[in-house]
Amino acid sequence: MTSASEESTTRELGQIKAVCLDIDDTLLDSGRAARHGLRELVGSDRAWPVWQRTTDQHYARFVTNEIDFDVMCVERTRAFFAAFGEDIDDAEAARRESLRMAAMQSAWGLFDDARPCLDWLRASGLRLAVITNAPSAYQRKKIAAVGLADAFDQLVISDELGVAKPDPRIFHTACRALGLSPEEVVHVGDKLDADALGATQAGLHGVWLNRNGTEAPTGHVPTITSLFELPELLVSDLPAIPARPPVTTGGRIAELVR
Ligand SMILES: [Mg+2]
Repeated sequence: MTSASEESTTRELGQIKAVCLDIDDTLLDSGRAARHGLRELVGSDRAWPVWQRTTDQHYARFVTNEIDFDVMCVERTRAFFAAFGEDIDDAEAARRESLRMAAMQSAWGLFDDARPCLDWLRASGLRLAVITNAPSAYQRKKIAAVGLADAFDQLVISDELGVAKPDPRIFHTACRALGLSPEEVVHVGDKLDADALGATQAGLHGVWLNRNGTEAPTGHVPTITSLFELPELLVSDLPAIPARPPVTTGGRIAELVR
């Protein structure tokens, strides 16, 4: 009889058929671009922690379909300036957001490890997909702007499905679109909960890209600090996952992946 630890032995790359990746702060240095946008908006990025906190609060409302993306952008800008005692109306917030957005988009760019990693994955015969929590048109524009329009076999975008990471349905939708079982698919992203743990709980191989070396609870998912480390992880260190029955999706999601 084999123990759980013996079952978690090394695996061959051949057992993995596809890799899904998050976009923001995983392939694309969204933080750097957003800091650039903030500098254009207020003259410096000293208020970056406030901007990040405000974004986290408001983006969560967009991801859960509470508000649409444009409304989120305006409300976030109002809340950001309110935190510094300035009350602005929606029209002024929209004007300032437009300036910030243009500056940020001019700074969109990939991390240095993104393209070499994608090239290695593709050269290894793996299929590639994106799983991202984002508005559809905006994210597709972003992916094209950084030269990745043709880099993936599938783009799975929360806005198009009506569900977002870490909901297992978005991961199962990606697997089904790839024609693969969850245990054949790796998902890599910078959010421990939404990406790595969400994928793991959906039966995929979740990998946490912890670029900042953030201290995390022990005993969790495989972790890398750079995409340069992903090939080594794939060929040597991923624990095996027992095969599960085929995943099912229903309603709007099933229609989208047919
Ligand atoms: Mg991300």
